[in-house]
Amino acid sequence: MDLIVTHIGADFDALASLVAARKIYPRALVIIPGSADKDVREYLYKNPELIDLKKEKEVDFKKVKRLIVVDTRLAKRIGEAKTVLSNRGLILHFYDHHPRTKSDLAGRVDIGGRYGATTTILVEILKKRKIKISPEEATLLALGIYEDTGSFTFPSTTPADLRAASFLVSKGANINTISDFMRRELTKTQVKLLNRLLRLEKRIKINGIEIAIIKLKSSNYITDLAATVHRLRDIENLESIFVLLGTKERIRVVARSRIKAVNVGKITQAFGGGGHATAASATIRGMELRDVEKKLIEVLKSKVTPEIAPEESLLFRKSVGPLLDRNLPPGVAGLLAKVGKIAEKKDFRVYLVGGIVRDLLLGVENFDVDLVVKGDGISFARYLVSKLGGKITAHRRFGTAVATLSGGIKIDIATARKEFYASPAALPAVEKGSLREDLYRRDFTINAMAVRLNPGRYGELIDFFGGWRDLKERKVKVLHNRSFIEDPTRIFRAIRFQERYGFFMDKNTERLVRDALKRKIFRRLSKQRIREEMIAILSEPRPGNAILALYRIGILKSIHPKIRLSPEIKKDLQTVKTILDRFAPFLKKEAGKSWIIHFLILVQQLSILEVRNLCRNFGFSREQYNKIFKGRESLSEATRKLKKAELKPSLLYRALQGLPIEALVFIVLKGRSRLVERRVHRYLTRVRREKIRTTGNKLKKMGYKQGPLFKKILQELLWAKLDGVVKSPSSETKFIIDNFPKD
Ligand code: ATP
Ligand code: MG
Repeated sequence: MDLIVTHIGADFDALASLVAARKIYPRALVIIPGSADKDVREYLYKNPELIDLKKEKEVDFKKVKRLIVVDTRLAKRIGEAKTVLSNRGLILHFYDHHPRTKSDLAGRVDIGGRYGATTTILVEILKKRKIKISPEEATLLALGIYEDTGSFTFPSTTPADLRAASFLVSKGANINTISDFMRRELTKTQVKLLNRLLRLEKRIKINGIEIAIIKLKSSNYITDLAATVHRLRDIENLESIFVLLGTKERIRVVARSRIKAVNVGKITQAFGGGGHATAASATIRGMELRDVEKKLIEVLKSKVTPEIAPEESLLFRKSVGPLLDRNLPPGVAGLLAKVGKIAEKKDFRVYLVGGIVRDLLLGVENFDVDLVVKGDGISFARYLVSKLGGKITAHRRFGTAVATLSGGIKIDIATARKEFYASPAALPAVEKGSLREDLYRRDFTINAMAVRLNPGRYGELIDFFGGWRDLKERKVKVLHNRSFIEDPTRIFRAIRFQERYGFFMDKNTERLVRDALKRKIFRRLSKQRIREEMIAILSEPRPGNAILALYRIGILKSIHPKIRLSPEIKKDLQTVKTILDRFAPFLKKEAGKSWIIHFLILVQQLSILEVRNLCRNFGFSREQYNKIFKGRESLSEATRKLKKAELKPSLLYRALQGLPIEALVFIVLKGRSRLVERRVHRYLTRVRREKIRTTGNKLKKMGYKQGPLFKKILQELLWAKLDGVVKSPSSETKFIIDNFPKD
């Protein structure tokens, strides 16, 4: 009997190798010893038809005549199959890409060598023997190669790996499936280490190139250091990084770089180490950590060569002039052209930027005119209102101003920040550099485009980061991997835009969100900022899906642990839209806020006290708090009353009197009945408008004493009027005399 086995903790390379080996030894039984990687198990669960796996205990190990081992040569790594090794006359076959060690077993067949993945070795054999490969198999085999070569970025990658992958793609390997499984999440220890590294990270500039250096001491051995440094480089989007780890007797240097200017292989050589230009390491004895750092900086100074990136190559030019006329609100396009002309006179460069550019391209209405000015934004704003009429409010500290033009249109004007001016040596790039930097600070590619307003190049779209393409592909994509760490509120924003436009975060952005959440990034965010982002999301016309997304990634719980998306709440989130539509005129007239109603939906399971504490905690304004509190507090009483079969108008009045419009709409939503809705409607249109003729003055003339009694009389009179007991002014007088006899 033939048995194929791999190592414990099988990864994709191991699994793929098992599947490939089985095609070479079609009658062999196959086992995975111990348990496989979580991702591998998930993959097998989804693709059970890929391979017929036996459990270790299902196999009669004594009967094994030939053992085929893939992706290892070590006896201690093959689990229970190890017992097979004592079978008499056993034949061993190995397929393994790992470098040979002394503890390796020897096989009759033993194929290895310089390959990035064991799968590659086996794929070469399948190819040579012309063994048929299904698209499903090709996908898994490719996945094995992708994984072990870090998607062909690890230094161990060889031409053979790329050839094998190319062959597999031609056999139908599905790249989408591969990319889904390639975004691995961090392990707990990696997260901890990563956080520690992040805290210690500092950056220095050498010959104009930013280099991250992390110096840390540890008394025990750190596993995963190299992998974590690699990950850190990705997350922080670092060009190059050096980690100096001091343990008791030695210092280990792990270095990664992705730019030519910093060749870490050469740099670590100065410490007796070495490796590739992109990944290298060194071990140093008999030196202090501090001195290693000093020496490293010296070495860097002599070995780092500055690199000049051609900025123009990133620029993507396209005219959107006609869109400005077509999609902007009437009058705004003309105004923008004027703004450009005015700027030109004084040599300012002005650009339309941000959300309005995005919406312009999408054909969505947007009234927020945001401008960025090269030069001084505030002086430009002054100059602009001197020409067009209006006034400005300036914020010196930020170099921003709001110009309110005579027509009432508001324009936000910002300065492309000073520090964006490049050094004198880079003069020609100053303008582009400054705008580019300004745009680079923004949240997503789709929000980081600008349109030139100066005449001559009016309407030219400036898109450094592929925003236009991402709009077309419906993607929400960050500009760099540090984005969510720099500003965690962008996670809310990503979800908001995604749901508003029916877009998706791209894979990398999604992964960065997950990483940021794992690192509990929200703890750094003030409650006020979280509140504002929640309000922004809940103000969207249909926030239902965004709320679901927030819930799924655990943000809602961090707002209040008791917020659960019960079926009830889900239903409310679905039905609220039609109710909001039906009550839109009232909401509009009374400046009602849909977000308050959505908020009330979310906190309905919380006790009144909990809602109060939540509001305090998040620092809602008094007005916001009152509306929320009244909405939450009045609900059960009001709905109970409004559902009664008989309800006199005065009682309807008393049930709803003084409630904000948001609370009323919430009552309609939760009432889930035509009756309740009709009654609230009646309250809004008629009941609450009812007036009596009698005034305080009249009561005085009638001989009543001023005081609390006045209020009581007027109130009861109103109720009587509502119920039709009194009608005319004379019957009002009669009602008063009858019911409030003077003593
Ligand atoms: P909306 O239609 O909701 O107003 P918007 O994109 O206009 O969307 P704003 O909050 O008005 O959003 O911000 C204007 C612009 O400022 C954005 O388009 C973006 O370029 C930038 N911006 C806003 N918030 C952030 C942030 N947290 N991080 C980076 N850039 C931001
Ligand atoms: Mg906006």
